[in-house]
Amino acid sequence: MTLGPVVAVMVAVAVDGPYSYRVPEGKEVERGSIVVVPLGPRPTLGVVWGEPKDNFAHNRLKDIEHVFDVPALSEELLKTIDWVARYTLAQPGMVLRGALRSREALDPPRPLIAYKRAGPEPERMTDARARVLSVMEDGFPWAKPALIGAAGVSTAVVEGLVKSGCLQQVEIPAPPPVLPPEPDFAPAKLSEAQQAALDQIRAHDKGGFSVALLDGITGSGKTEVFFESVADMLRTGKQVAIILPEIALTHTFLDRFEKRFGQRAAEWHSEMTPVQRARVWRGVLTGEVRAVIGARSALFLPFRELGLLVLDEEHDGAFKQADRVNYHGRDMAVVRASMAGARVILSSATPAVESRNNGETGRYAHVRLESRFADAALPDITALDMRAEGPEKGQWIAPRLARAVFDALDRGEQALLFLNRRGYAPLTLCRSCGHQYQCPDCSTWLVEHRFRGVLMCHHCGHEERAPEVCGSCGASDSLVAVGPGIERLAEEVAERFPGARPVVLSSDMGSMRQIRDRFAEIARGEYDIIIGTQLVAKGHHFEKLSLVGVIDADLGLAHGDPRAAEKTFQILTQVTGRAGRESRSGKAFLQTYHPDHPVMKAMVSGDREGFYAHELAVRRQGGLPPFGRLAALIVSGNEHAETMALAKALMAAAPLAEGVKRFGPADAPVAMVRGRHRVRILVQSPKEFDLSGYVRFWLETGPPAKGNLRVQVDIDPMSF
Ligand code: ADP
Ligand code: ZN
Ligand code: ZN
Repeated sequence: MTLGPVVAVMVAVAVDGPYSYRVPEGKEVERGSIVVVPLGPRPTLGVVWGEPKDNFAHNRLKDIEHVFDVPALSEELLKTIDWVARYTLAQPGMVLRGALRSREALDPPRPLIAYKRAGPEPERMTDARARVLSVMEDGFPWAKPALIGAAGVSTAVVEGLVKSGCLQQVEIPAPPPVLPPEPDFAPAKLSEAQQAALDQIRAHDKGGFSVALLDGITGSGKTEVFFESVADMLRTGKQVAIILPEIALTHTFLDRFEKRFGQRAAEWHSEMTPVQRARVWRGVLTGEVRAVIGARSALFLPFRELGLLVLDEEHDGAFKQADRVNYHGRDMAVVRASMAGARVILSSATPAVESRNNGETGRYAHVRLESRFADAALPDITALDMRAEGPEKGQWIAPRLARAVFDALDRGEQALLFLNRRGYAPLTLCRSCGHQYQCPDCSTWLVEHRFRGVLMCHHCGHEERAPEVCGSCGASDSLVAVGPGIERLAEEVAERFPGARPVVLSSDMGSMRQIRDRFAEIARGEYDIIIGTQLVAKGHHFEKLSLVGVIDADLGLAHGDPRAAEKTFQILTQVTGRAGRESRSGKAFLQTYHPDHPVMKAMVSGDREGFYAHELAVRRQGGLPPFGRLAALIVSGNEHAETMALAKALMAAAPLAEGVKRFGPADAPVAMVRGRHRVRILVQSPKEFDLSGYVRFWLETGPPAKGNLRVQVDIDPMSF
């Protein structure tokens, strides 16, 4: 429906609501049209939101400058943006920003300008010209921006070479359209259990919005099941997206998708170039792209006819976005699907307690896969009581685990040693004066990274050279590393298993491509011992891996966080699930000081149902999610006293509401980040309560944050 002559336009900047603009004669817009409008001195990207709310005199309004020749954003996306802004208390313009791209994506793709060698070297040779020619030695045409970047020259240098006849400008036509995936290309032959799961998902699909929780143990073949649902949806002509928690998993998934559907899905994540992203974004909007595999931000892509969203590893904490717009990918997927009348499949071996509850109460279809595909057995899990059978001083691998590693090596199998701590040691202290190395800007210890010879803050990235003498008392040779990180574990592995081929893997150990190469090498059996952080815990399938040792199984339990048990259970299940996936009998050891903790007991006995029942009972009793709601208000500022004073004033101004409890203010668990103090107030409410609305009212009526002070809201915080 065309609108006008005055419309409301949401601009993609930090403002609270839409502004009114005039539609110039000869232009047509509808709700969702993407436009450029003047905002202050600058033209700004925006979206037509609807009829104007105010009635300014028309002659005082500015004109819309440009209407892009692309389809309008869908109604469901606009509604989702409104919902996310209202729920998370973010500004709608900022949420919209996450759904739009640069002008590049909106203008029709242009042919690429490139250059190729055409004639002899020019008479006048300069350093810059020589660099261009040396880059072009491979004989292939080079795209303009790539050539300028690689040679480090200006456009003028390249143009000079064209004038002299040495180079020739050529146009590379825009890439051909993406071919649609073929639903019937190579369907998997499902096992009976998988077929039953698929039938259950199909039976639950009445057309329109619905959610299925695919709750199946590691290695049960969940991917093959949801691929068949993807095929069902592609047959109806709708678009699908598979959302992953970790970029490192994308590549494996793209390969699996291509084998099943004969074509690659479009890829979407932060490590793509702007040009690649622009192309996918536009393809999704025009409908050319039918399937996307990507990160959380793909939930904001401008689908035309969204049919299915799959969230793999739906429990993963990485789905919670913690920057400008604080949303949880799982909630966001469910909201978007409900607006679009689409379906959702949440897949996990260790569902979030919230999702399990929705499965049990019947809000979601609860689809289970309880055995491994092809009768591979789950690993046999043993808790190693470190009080009784811990390693010698200065070592971190207990004797029994070390023996199991030798056994695996003897059989030509692989072992994974898991420690969720990057670097060499979590704390460095001086033996002679007791000085502990702390970040100058955060209330955290500096972590030694010995490979690189630095001490580093994992919160703000601050780095300093590892000192040779104590910075406090000047003693030399007095610094000791306290506790293990994976680099230190690698040192022990090299000493104790000298014949083995080890590899160390964590997110800070190189680019996505390098990490992907390591994974491929592991899969080919080029390493015997894999030492890794949570990066290796997820989704990977290594045929020869038969042993998993968890060096510090208690690591996640230490915090006073009510989600600690759930998170620890999830990571331990994921990482032990890497063992014995290919019908070898797998073994796992958990090194723990608390073998009687409910999490360790559930792991050893394999009683996941018991674990969820226990955890849900604890949450119900405490009024914690999913039986209650939580929000965190983080007040931050340069001075602690001022920050605390604002938090206290806010606390005093809290509106009263039945059943709403407020805690604090108290210093946040990480009380200082990047030189700013952080003080936290927690709010807990009953489930039916509009906690977002309550906090919004509170902030609007309470004392304002002035100067350097800021108040951030986190609805549904993941740790508290
Ligand atoms: P999950 O995601 O549940 O941990 P996967 O989907 O990765 O499990 O499946 C585990 C392994 O079993 C994979 O190697 C997968 O290719 C294989 N697999 C699962 N289902 C089938 C099937 N129906 N036919 C052939 N191979 C299968
Ligand atoms: Zn820091
Ligand atoms: Zn000292």
